[in-house]
Amino acid sequence: MVNINHKFVFQASSLLKELPKIDSHIHTNWTDGKDSIGEIYEKAQQLMLERIVFTEHTSRTSESWFNKFADHVNKLATTNTKVHLGSEVRIFNLDGEIEILDSVNSICEIILASVHRFPDANGNVIEFSDMSAGNVLNLEFSLMKSAIKNSQADIIAHPFGMSLERFNLHPTPDMWIELVELSKKHGVALEINSKYHKNFDFILGLFIQENALISIGSDVHEVDRVGHCIDKIERFLSEI
Ligand SMILES: [Zn+2]
Ligand SMILES: [Zn+2]
Repeated sequence: MVNINHKFVFQASSLLKELPKIDSHIHTNWTDGKDSIGEIYEKAQQLMLERIVFTEHTSRTSESWFNKFADHVNKLATTNTKVHLGSEVRIFNLDGEIEILDSVNSICEIILASVHRFPDANGNVIEFSDMSAGNVLNLEFSLMKSAIKNSQADIIAHPFGMSLERFNLHPTPDMWIELVELSKKHGVALEINSKYHKNFDFILGLFIQENALISIGSDVHEVDRVGHCIDKIERFLSEI
């Protein structure tokens, strides 16, 4: 039985009835973001978001600081905007394993799994310059599919983001549909991501048409981007 967390994951067709005011992908100056936990939270309050999730990058070496980060998040004086703790981790091999510490996993409400770099068959990172366009798309597709089937992740962050953003390669609609079907079968959501998905309207349209299981994330790295994904979804919905 697939266990879906309805606070953070939605059926795409439900957006046509009600848009949850949420941002489930946020970084701060604890890793590669510019602004503090407090500044991000203040902005989310101003925008009257219902909930936000701090999803800081972690790896196997994050033991030393993640608990302190979690304490800061948990100590925020919150109002109507609810705050949650998550983490974005990498899919590190073609078996779909994700790089996550038990100590991080145990205190996070959601885990985002993402492709940022590409491993070879032995799990070593391939330099971008050594990759051909032809294998980028297929490798990213394979990594995501394995992670959906095998990992403890709740959400695939910025699906096809590397192919789209770094290599300007576009998956076919059939590839998207295969990913959507697999994601629904395993209860691992696909993120609609306003930073990586430059062809946002196409992807959101396809997610709604296929009633994908989705999560909503701006991939915030600075305060001005809080709620950006919701803005883009609202604009899309107002035009259909
Ligand atoms: Zn990412
Ligand atoms: Zn991110």
